[in-house]
Amino acid sequence: MMAITFLFIRKRVFFIVCTLLFSFSNLYGSEEEKVRVVTSIFPLYDFASQVGGDLVDVKMLLPPGVEAHGFSPTPHDMVDVTRADLFLYTSNTLEPWAGTIVAALGAGKGKVVEVGTEILYKKDDHTASGVEDTTDRHHEGHNHSGEDPHIWLDPRLAMKMVEVIGAALSEVDPEHSEVYRNNSEAYTRDLDLFDIRTEQILQNCKVRTIVSGGHFAFGSFAERYGLTAVSPFLGYSPNAQPSPRAIAGLVKIVRKTGSTVIFHEELVEPKVARIVADETGGRLMLLHGVHNVSREELERGETYLSLMQKNVQNLKQGLQCQ
Ligand SMILES: [Zn+2]
Repeated sequence: MMAITFLFIRKRVFFIVCTLLFSFSNLYGSEEEKVRVVTSIFPLYDFASQVGGDLVDVKMLLPPGVEAHGFSPTPHDMVDVTRADLFLYTSNTLEPWAGTIVAALGAGKGKVVEVGTEILYKKDDHTASGVEDTTDRHHEGHNHSGEDPHIWLDPRLAMKMVEVIGAALSEVDPEHSEVYRNNSEAYTRDLDLFDIRTEQILQNCKVRTIVSGGHFAFGSFAERYGLTAVSPFLGYSPNAQPSPRAIAGLVKIVRKTGSTVIFHEELVEPKVARIVADETGGRLMLLHGVHNVSREELERGETYLSLMQKNVQNLKQGLQCQ
């Protein structure tokens, strides 16, 4: 009798162990099947998630709340890049470390795509304006000619980024290329709708200059909607503080354009914007550059589109649009 019971228990234990092993192998197997994508900044993370859906496992290298221009990867990040099936970054201008680690690590086993090189973003400087030596006469913006890395802030360039990401996913996972194409087209329609609505909202604005106390990020956006963007920062990053002369130039522009709002950027203490606002009696409003998100924004489920929609609402108020 005891022998029979023992046999029964052994059989049962064997059955449970087999079931568990099978479940684990299934779980492991389904994870293995996902395409592993690593991205640098938030827009690439969001676009890859939109296009890849359930088929991809996307990891963003930038931890929440970290300023994108000053970021540098950890050794652990480098391992993630080499293990990925696909590594997406914007450009060597925005992420100078990306090309270096890819070259140093022999690019790992996956595909590497510098999304920005696929898109023409060399800009002339008709609307891209710096105020380093601004006078009342004009501000020509020579500081911001050349490569503007903030391509995602123009929804039409964002659409091109989505197309590039869709093509890259299809290349590393051709079996699901139709899914990637369908997702890419659906998300592009959302971006297109946002672009059309934004154009309508920003058509009739009393003020047509976006005065930013942050670094120069909205040149592409301004150009798309026939606006002018000004910033006291040299170049395209917040790394070097603007000169007092540039800040004084911005104050002059505020008075000249009748702006009552000074826009400030995300994840950075708005010191310069506050100085200009105090000087001119203006108020501060956020213009989110969507380089990265804070932990709270991530937990709230903010996306590229949700943040851009808030930007447009703030611009509508700040530029006094009808
Ligand atoms: Zn930037």
